[in-house]
Amino acid sequence: MQVLSVASEVYPLVKTGGLADVAGALPLALKGHGVSVKTLMPGYPAVMGTIRNATLRMSFESLLGAKADVLEVEHQGLDLLILDSPTFFDRPGGPYADAAGKDHVDNWRRFAALSKAGAVIAQGGMAEGKTGWQPDIVHLHDWQSAMVSAYMRYAAEPEIPSLITIHNIAFQGRFGADIFPYLELPPHALDIDGIEYFGGVGYLKAGLQTSSAISTVSPSYAEEILTPEFGMGLEGLLAYRAADLHGIVNGIDPDIWNPATDRAVQSNYTAATLKARAENKQAVAERFRLDQDEGPLFCVVSRLTWQKGMDILAEAVDDLVALGARLAVLGSGDKVLEDAFHAAATRHPGRVSVLSAYDEPLSHLMQAGCDAIIIPSRFEPCGLTQLYGLRYGCIPVVARTGGLNDTVIDANPAALAARTATGVSFGPVTAESLRRALRRAVRLYSEPKVWTQMQKQGMKSDVSWEKSAGLYAGLFQNLLARKGS
Ligand code: ADP
Repeated sequence: MQVLSVASEVYPLVKTGGLADVAGALPLALKGHGVSVKTLMPGYPAVMGTIRNATLRMSFESLLGAKADVLEVEHQGLDLLILDSPTFFDRPGGPYADAAGKDHVDNWRRFAALSKAGAVIAQGGMAEGKTGWQPDIVHLHDWQSAMVSAYMRYAAEPEIPSLITIHNIAFQGRFGADIFPYLELPPHALDIDGIEYFGGVGYLKAGLQTSSAISTVSPSYAEEILTPEFGMGLEGLLAYRAADLHGIVNGIDPDIWNPATDRAVQSNYTAATLKARAENKQAVAERFRLDQDEGPLFCVVSRLTWQKGMDILAEAVDDLVALGARLAVLGSGDKVLEDAFHAAATRHPGRVSVLSAYDEPLSHLMQAGCDAIIIPSRFEPCGLTQLYGLRYGCIPVVARTGGLNDTVIDANPAALAARTATGVSFGPVTAESLRRALRRAVRLYSEPKVWTQMQKQGMKSDVSWEKSAGLYAGLFQNLLARKGS
């Protein structure tokens, strides 16, 4: 089976979030399931400066008003189609914003162009000639490529089946109706059954409306987004399409995240040599200038935002210290929250410490040395840090939401008796409920046998892509079968 994946960021070339991880890892994992993927992505400077020996596969004289080429290249096992259009993509800054963090004003045109190119390729634009290729299925990710299925719907050529994956419904690609004349779509596309959204244009809405199926990155989040609290305006449409909505959790790269071989870790270990974690714990305490003692060391590796529930952790931090625990925080974000954690560090020298940085190697060391990682998110489509925690024996203390709910087994009495517990989960997301969870975690830590058993159980959890890739492959098969029936 041939799949065209269309994504605005792909690890390891360009990454701002989990979408890049999925777009980069899933094609590799799908190979074992008889699915071969070509990934269409924009030719940002970081991409054009990295790729070598690309082949020109097709040209657009005018793609939404600009010249564009499609180049094919292999990069670290990925088969990439690069949309090379200097007008849209050759500029400083990140994929969506300039160097000052301000969104590019023409994002609507840039990602409509990416989507239109995807639709043209999906509908046979590259099928001619000896090296001709046309996919059986197209896989879209978030609002930036959501318009592919809309462009297919309103083109003369037959549509092919499509799956759109929601990585975070908070980002919707919502624009004014004034852009519509420039999108090169027929007038009836601006309809409630098309791309119209609250009087304007909604890219994610358009994708959810016109794709054959919809998925998101955990079964719990798939249910949550059917409610007004989590659906952010799209819950009605999603409820209408509930029969086509699926939840498949993300995996992690087991080679990059392997405590037995991780080079960022002071002392490597396995489930059989957990005592070696002590050296890493000492190293984390040193890096954060925290006291060295036998008590539990908790950590946070996160954006410091409201979504991540960092305000309730800031409220509960004094109680955590009163329990004899220490807290190391790695992350930056909202100024108010950064200030709150710095103030806590000042109140509790040696017990609480904050590093406002993005430091990938340090994040590995923290998973390898801290006793527990706190993730009190208000919503979490999938979440990665709890998966790293499970693999590294760093017990996740998580809010009972989204992917956190689907991947961590709470240490309730039944799970402890059955030896299946892998973490501590809590709800609702309030400071009081988090305080109770932290108290429970500290109590479990004081029983080394129970704690070690939980660590080992977590390290046995399957957090690889293998199972999820099988689920995606099954979904693709179903879509093809549906088309044929
Ligand atoms: P989100 O994508 O919503 O921020 P995820 O848990 O899905 O949350 O992914 C966050 C990723 O970013 C993880 O790989 C995490 O380890 C990493 N990360 C977050 N903050 C930092 C930081 N300050 N330093 C290093 N890595 C970080």
